[in-house]
Amino acid sequence: MFDTLSDRLGAILTNLRGKGRLSPQDIDATCREIRVALLEADVSLPVVRAFVARIKERATGAEVSAALNPAQQVVKIVNEELIGILGGETRRLQFAKNPPTVIMLAGLQGSGKTTLAGKLALWLRKQGHAPLLVACDLQRPNAVTQLQVVGEQAGVPVYAPEPGNGVGDPVTVARGGVQFGQVKQHDIVIVDTAGRLGVDAEMMAQAVAIREAVVPDEVLFVIDAMIGQSAIETAEAFRDGVGFTGVVLTKLDGDARGGAALSVRHVTGAPIMFASTGEKLTEFDTFHPDRMANRILG
Ligand code: GDP
Repeated sequence: MFDTLSDRLGAILTNLRGKGRLSPQDIDATCREIRVALLEADVSLPVVRAFVARIKERATGAEVSAALNPAQQVVKIVNEELIGILGGETRRLQFAKNPPTVIMLAGLQGSGKTTLAGKLALWLRKQGHAPLLVACDLQRPNAVTQLQVVGEQAGVPVYAPEPGNGVGDPVTVARGGVQFGQVKQHDIVIVDTAGRLGVDAEMMAQAVAIREAVVPDEVLFVIDAMIGQSAIETAEAFRDGVGFTGVVLTKLDGDARGGAALSVRHVTGAPIMFASTGEKLTEFDTFHPDRMANRILG
């Protein structure tokens, strides 16, 4: 996903290498080039501004002028600031003191939510947990069946609407699913919710109603990293409309420019917790800001 950005930043920083001391002009030029590279990669403007300002401030400071190898020092600063933009520390799931831990998924239709539900369930099961999936996406045709398929692939049971337990009413299904999870001693309940193709008041109201009904320990906002700049508006709409405790980036295997993925933490204030990198259930892992920064800087 970040190949072009990675090449551009690599070239900019390599240009510094031949130099001994860095003049203020060198630093200005480098900052300008970094700014353009980030904007062209679709990183949102406030994030670019904050990032470049930090680089400039630190690159003109004592840590670079006193360094034996100033160019390397600038690379180190860019790396550290990139990690900062991506959230610094890895943020892990918070488990409830009294199980089950309820994890609610929210996001647009097509963001990869249902797939993610299966991925997360498999990942948790492999760690010795006993998750339950709850199918509350009653909007998209086949979403329930799709969740049942990924549940089967993950070896995780699915609580789905049936006559008598809330057909047509996602809030009743969500509540019933959590109760079922409790009774059957599942320590984690993952609630898949409906998305729409765009941000929509009815979808938000439904997500809020589900959130209020099940009081989740985590609300994970699932976002397709390929959707470019509109990712930011979508993330803000979900933050204001539903609220979330963490972000999952999907489709990081795509070849879009991906800058939105680099902006979402800074813009929403919520940590990126997981990343999806393919359609297979195993193509998923915890998001590590430092590893991502290293990947981008090559
Ligand atoms: P939902 O509408 O949010 O539940 O989205 P789905 O889980 O149905 O995913 C939409 C499409 O994206 C499906 O074709 C998935 O196979 C695909 N998909 C999901 N996650 C990824 C990913 O990380 N990488 C790629 N390349 N495709 C993905």
